[in-house]
Amino acid sequence: YLFDKTPLFQDLKLPVRLKIKPPIPFDNYNEIIDLTKQNISPETRFPEPQSPSEILNAIRDKAVFGCGGGGFPASVKIETVLNSSAPDKFFIINAVECDPGLIHDKILLGKYPDKIRMGISLISRIIPFKKIILAVKDNLIDFNTDKNIEIFKSFPFYPAGSERALIKQILNRKIQSKEIPAELGILVLNVQTVLAITEAVIENRKAVTKYITVANFKQKQNTVVRASLGDKVSDIINKVYPDGYPVFYGGGIMLARQADEDSVIDKSTSIIAISDFTSFKESPQCSHCGSCMKYCPEHLEVNRIADSIDRNKITSTHKFAPERCVSCGICSYICPAGRNLMRRVQTAAESLQNA
Ligand code: SF4
Ligand code: SF4
Repeated sequence: YLFDKTPLFQDLKLPVRLKIKPPIPFDNYNEIIDLTKQNISPETRFPEPQSPSEILNAIRDKAVFGCGGGGFPASVKIETVLNSSAPDKFFIINAVECDPGLIHDKILLGKYPDKIRMGISLISRIIPFKKIILAVKDNLIDFNTDKNIEIFKSFPFYPAGSERALIKQILNRKIQSKEIPAELGILVLNVQTVLAITEAVIENRKAVTKYITVANFKQKQNTVVRASLGDKVSDIINKVYPDGYPVFYGGGIMLARQADEDSVIDKSTSIIAISDFTSFKESPQCSHCGSCMKYCPEHLEVNRIADSIDRNKITSTHKFAPERCVSCGICSYICPAGRNLMRRVQTAAESLQNA
């Protein structure tokens, strides 16, 4: 069970400071391969809705979801911020894409800047924000914003793009694990979600597609594909990189699992990749070096959770709050004993959820 969800580390170079070095350098503009042509009805342009409730209803009716991996209903998140009693409200558009294997957010910023600006404008009509910030990697290609939108260039550490890490960097506010940013008046939406809002409100499109990165790490190639939810992973890889094997898919290079014939694209899928299997040494001895705790962005007592799992004392892991794990994979990457620690922490979190 330790290997069914595994980061694709062999493709990754993370120096000890965990500064991102993508496995494939991003240096040119890629076209998007649209595999959804048969599945999307022709665009129907509706008059732009004027009232905030019309905009919110369209986002709800078209089932726009969080494209950063969460898959939550965007309308619920927006309403939570709207109803928050926080005196100042903030809107962060997340295009940091800190997982080193992903490229699609950057491609979307380059290809659809007008639609993204329109989405930001629509959401701003629902909620009056004190500040709107577009958060990007520090090597952003050109994206001109109007004077109402600030650009924040994030240092490319991993996981800079997690919601809490982003808020800490931009607003210098530490969000506790039990706090929900939206309830504090902070709206964080992935840039693809903002694009989907424009498509829902202005183009009357149901949110049934996702832009994903499709990569062949063995050949150092990558591209962006627009796929429909429910599309088979094997069909997509056969169209883009035929005969590639083995195929992994998931929320990013740091949280991927091997695909089989039945694997399909869902709301959390952000990458499909041909790669090699990661091997874990799984040395029996923990040297108590402390690296797993030091680099865990949630400061979890990772080795204690892992030790309890290995001793079949799953319930005793619950006091270490394994549910706070953000599945970044750093602990598994950094452990000199080669233990797949993330999988153990997730086992603890799943057990807590089912308790
Ligand atoms: S325990 Fe979870 S959050 Fe902490 S480093 Fe491991 S995978 Fe990341
Ligand atoms: S990083 Fe590995 S060896 Fe070091 S304390 Fe954590 S589990 Fe033990």
